[in-house]
Amino acid sequence: MKNLDELHFDNRYARLGNAFSVAVAPDPIDEPRLVVASEAALALLDLEPAVQDDPLLAQLGSGHRLWAGAEPRAMVYSGHQFGVYNPRLGDGRGLLLGEVINAAGEYWDLHLKGAGLTPYSRMGDGRAVLRSTIREFLASEHLHALGIPTSRALCVTGSTTPVWRERQESAAMLLRLAPSHVRFGHFEYFYYSDQREQLRILAEHVLRCHFPACLEQPAPHAALFREVVERTAELLAYWQAYGFCHGVMNTDNMSILGITFDYGPYAFLDDFDANHVCNHSDDSGRYSFSNQVPIAHWNLAALAQALTPFVGVDELRASLGLFLPLFQAHYLDLMRRRLGLASAAEGDQELVQRLLQLMQGSAVDYSRFFRQLGEEAPEQALRILREDFVDLAGFDAWGAAYRARVDSEGGSQAERRTRMHAVNPKYVLRNYLAQQVIEAAEQGDYAPVRELHAVLSQPYAEQPGMERYAERPPEWGKHLEISCSS
Ligand code: AMP
Ligand code: MG
Repeated sequence: MKNLDELHFDNRYARLGNAFSVAVAPDPIDEPRLVVASEAALALLDLEPAVQDDPLLAQLGSGHRLWAGAEPRAMVYSGHQFGVYNPRLGDGRGLLLGEVINAAGEYWDLHLKGAGLTPYSRMGDGRAVLRSTIREFLASEHLHALGIPTSRALCVTGSTTPVWRERQESAAMLLRLAPSHVRFGHFEYFYYSDQREQLRILAEHVLRCHFPACLEQPAPHAALFREVVERTAELLAYWQAYGFCHGVMNTDNMSILGITFDYGPYAFLDDFDANHVCNHSDDSGRYSFSNQVPIAHWNLAALAQALTPFVGVDELRASLGLFLPLFQAHYLDLMRRRLGLASAAEGDQELVQRLLQLMQGSAVDYSRFFRQLGEEAPEQALRILREDFVDLAGFDAWGAAYRARVDSEGGSQAERRTRMHAVNPKYVLRNYLAQQVIEAAEQGDYAPVRELHAVLSQPYAEQPGMERYAERPPEWGKHLEISCSS
């Protein structure tokens, strides 16, 4: 275990030079204070839990101090925002501090979000607010605990620095970790600005550092794209199976690693609604829950375009064609598990689809449904759950088919319950829960955000005394308007 100031850096991305990122020093925020930290994320850097009590953490997390070996840089990228190409985005308020190597030899990008103005800030102020950093912190660590690939979050540092959004808020910074911060938009930037040599260097860097197995293939770039398609398909299967809406699936928010990245106005579904749009600014519903799958495919096509200098169009098309079948296979697998089915059978896809059709328009809480389905034997569970469905006859027919399917597998209820509870979270990061702890934190009370983080770090465990976090959301809590502003 290490002390806070003992991290070892090897900044491979910084060494690519000024065409890829530019040196920018963080602009500190006033009177920094640690809001919340993740012990699990600290451990990724071999840091022990006690570093949370070291005032140095808030200094490092607020731009007042830099780690020895850090080389803060703003990365340049572009991307398609709501389907429209924006030729120049880049880190407008976040800095890649460097790459930390842990004792296991893993590299972790250390990124400071909300660190002030950069050459890519455009009209922005370079800041992040306490509200949005808490939302990203909670979601990163919760998705990881659920088993969904994601960037990670080390800690949130608050301040007294005022920031103007729809109202006055306070500035905060988030220390984020990911094996890489390269986005689809990095490739698009060099492709559309006709910097072919830099595009080649970027691809080589990504292959060497993050996809070494592809380098063994006869056509490494083609293998890279195929791998990104596979990972993204698996990621989308998790999002759809667990009711996660990202909210802003612009290509600059898509990680080349296929992990959940750049959290904004995300939401977990409360009542199931395939058409849910969690981003209040998304008027056309481009990034609605059910659109996430075709949008991911669209984004992969945008990445494919940027790889055309290296890979033939037919080969890129063939890999793109794998996306939907791969997604469907992963998704069905996850949904079978959520339903407690241990094996695959003909008709499972219809069983899942029919259930979602019945949920649509009924007031069925998506996460609680699966947890309750495993809590009791099917007959009792279905009797309790049917109360929430509008089409009772339809639900009874579904229940009969489901029971027949469960019976065909045999096994005890105790076994079934254990198996289902291991994949159906009791605790889910609902918007209203985040809202409550944010309001407390804005008043200077960090106990609620710390407790919520602790609860959400073990989403599948019972956690006696914490049941209130697993309750149905209040009516107001289902209709919070979460805007893009952050
Ligand atoms: P996002 O919508 O957060 O994914 O950000 C899209 C782009 O806007 C990225 O280039 C961000 O760096 C930039 N950006 C977002 N918020 C700010 C801000 N407050 N100041 C400067 N740039 C920002
Ligand atoms: Mg972004």
